[in-house]
Amino acid sequence: MPEGDTIFRTARALRRALAGKPVTGFRSTFPLLTRFDDDNSLVGQLVESVESRGKWLLIHFSGGGTLATHLLMNGSWHIYRHGERWQQPRINMRIVIENAELIAVGFRVPVARMHTALSLARDAKIPQPVLDVLSAEFDAEAAVRRVLAHCDEEIADVLLHQEVLAGVGNVFKSEICFVAGVNPFCLVGGLRPEQAAVLIANAQRLVAANVQEGSGDQIVTYGGRKRRTTHESDPGESLFVYGRKDEPCRRCGELIRKRLQGSDARVTFWCARCQQMPDGSDVDG
Ligand SMILES: [Zn+2]
Repeated sequence: MPEGDTIFRTARALRRALAGKPVTGFRSTFPLLTRFDDDNSLVGQLVESVESRGKWLLIHFSGGGTLATHLLMNGSWHIYRHGERWQQPRINMRIVIENAELIAVGFRVPVARMHTALSLARDAKIPQPVLDVLSAEFDAEAAVRRVLAHCDEEIADVLLHQEVLAGVGNVFKSEICFVAGVNPFCLVGGLRPEQAAVLIANAQRLVAANVQEGSGDQIVTYGGRKRRTTHESDPGESLFVYGRKDEPCRRCGELIRKRLQGSDARVTFWCARCQQMPDGSDVDG
């Protein structure tokens, strides 16, 4: 599952390829998109901007329409020059947006819809920018209040709620809790308000660090290794706890634990010594 940082980088690449340029071709296997295009031809319109909102990618056209795509597990956007060989078979093509120089191809995109400004604002599944840790409009204090409102839920689960915080996926969830020294299974009601603030600050910092120019595709939170040397190795090499079950904690040497968490049974990693429960109780890995 791509996390918010991946979608942010995809949006940046699409923005560079498409924004400010007139569309010269549009094709899709989604009937609703081609019907929209029949009624409001996208050819000749400009791509005004491209943005990410959590795991959604939004392409805004000058005619007022916005193409919203969600990549789920297998979707991806590629950018090619005209005549360049595609890296996926044509049968995987779902959406093509062309301009005079480049072709953006959405492969195996599972969810795509066309919005007006009004329907976009009303689509509860697409987070508003104020919820997105990578947005300039993100409001950290409001995010702390939203976290604290879920007092009888476990904190790591709450960090994944898109209506609480957008842009944090399952890898960042464990990393954010570790860096903040908070046990992922701690109920929100057991957190001190300043701990919630530290969690939100770390969410912003860690996700933002992964969308800097040249930051690559791999999530890096642990700076013990040079980023450039990590791309072929085990993903856990660049992280504090995620993917590191039974390996020594980078801070204390205790063996990292792993457990499924929440109604979606998402995997969680933590250090029981660095991330103690407020009452000192133990959570089995
Ligand atoms: Zn530790």
